Amino acid sequence: MSDFLTRFAPSPTGRLHLGHAASAFHVWKAAERAGGRVLLRIEDTDRERSKREYVEQILDSLSWLGMDWDDEPIFQSSRSDRYSEIVERLLANRNAYRCFATEKELNKIREETKTYLYPGLWRDRSESEVQSRMDAGESFTVRLRTPLSGSTSFIDQIYNKIETPNKEIDDFVIARSDGGPVYNLVVAVDDHDMGITHVIRGEDHVSNTPKQIMVYQALNWNLPSFAHLPMILGPDQKRLSKRHGATGVQAFREQGYLPEALNNYLALIGWNPGTDQEMFNMEQLAETFDLGKVNKKSAVFDDKKLNWISGHHLMFRSNKDILDNVRSLIPEWGKTESDVYVMKVIDQLKVRSKTLIHLAEQSKYFFTDPESCDEEARMRFWKDNTRELLNTYFKDISELDDWDQSSLESSLRTVADDAGVGAGKIIHPVRLALSGVAHGPSLFIMMELLGKERCIRRIRTVINLL
Ligand code: GLU
Repeated sequence: MSDFLTRFAPSPTGRLHLGHAASAFHVWKAAERAGGRVLLRIEDTDRERSKREYVEQILDSLSWLGMDWDDEPIFQSSRSDRYSEIVERLLANRNAYRCFATEKELNKIREETKTYLYPGLWRDRSESEVQSRMDAGESFTVRLRTPLSGSTSFIDQIYNKIETPNKEIDDFVIARSDGGPVYNLVVAVDDHDMGITHVIRGEDHVSNTPKQIMVYQALNWNLPSFAHLPMILGPDQKRLSKRHGATGVQAFREQGYLPEALNNYLALIGWNPGTDQEMFNMEQLAETFDLGKVNKKSAVFDDKKLNWISGHHLMFRSNKDILDNVRSLIPEWGKTESDVYVMKVIDQLKVRSKTLIHLAEQSKYFFTDPESCDEEARMRFWKDNTRELLNTYFKDISELDDWDQSSLESSLRTVADDAGVGAGKIIHPVRLALSGVAHGPSLFIMMELLGKERCIRRIRTVINLL
């Protein structure tokens, strides 16, 4: 085990969505590659917006993706005393100070100066002035005394050197008037206390990093290394969010995507393996992944690509495994038939399905007679002579003793030859009669699987309807 220690730090103010999952993917893979560990920190300092149910969803989604953390999750809400202690320490070593400026006062200054940067109003007040305000019971915030000149820089593992002039960072609040510590303080304190060596997170946090570095410096702590990951955008080029529909990881699970497919997709979206390979199983991902090859540019979510990847992964799962997985989503699926039959259905459909749910949706006619027919296909395949051709084939196969694909096929080809038409003239209408749809597995395999009784009944129904 190496010293590499990273963390994933979700805020339980919503579900774990694809953007978070992409960051999590990189966190876990970087740790795996380095032979290190991942800790989980729940950033629940926003008491109003943080919800227990989101914590559960986040943990559940991570486990489903195969991202198992080490040790118990750490909740920021249980660390208030530690944050207060640090605020006191920063006040005591004069790296922080109390600010009694009211919101009204600050707003007026902001309007006049046309900037949100705090102008250091209370930075150099005398101790006695501060004390008298405290004695009067006035409320205050605590601000970090940040450097006025120079710059703060760090080497990002993905974006290289990122430098911010210190004059662009004001004396930011580290504790609110109710004593509540703010994000940039608690993250630095936690990362330090947890012994984090590598902070890996979304690019949306780049602007927070210099502030957190200032906290480290004020406390004389060693810095971890930082890596910021590109964002995932929706098709409208805006950062992926609820606006873009069901992007929660749970929704992908409910739609029947396999966890390895989502992992594979998350890998490709932000990372360039340096070859043309696009399909990776979990082991290959662990072997090939390299944080240094993460793209700098944001990626656009592409559901077609996800479906393509998802379909491939389905093919690698055993029929029994797919059966169990579909049943975990649709408990009653295929229960009217034996598991042996259902697994044969899976065998036929898994190569042409995008997801587990897609497979189940396509499987309907294997269990019940079709109630409708693809109208566009019917118009295309139903010709004047179809009824007669179907009738002849129907009679032939009604007398078949061996209901197997080769007998069913040779019978059909004989009928077609005798009538002087191509086999397709019978194949398509028979398929429509049996399934109601124009595409599916090989017709003869499908017929063998459906069995004589079902096939005869369905073809007869269609002939009578014509
Ligand atoms: N809680 C932050 C988020 O969910 C992550 C903060 C961090 O990784 O430093 O975006």
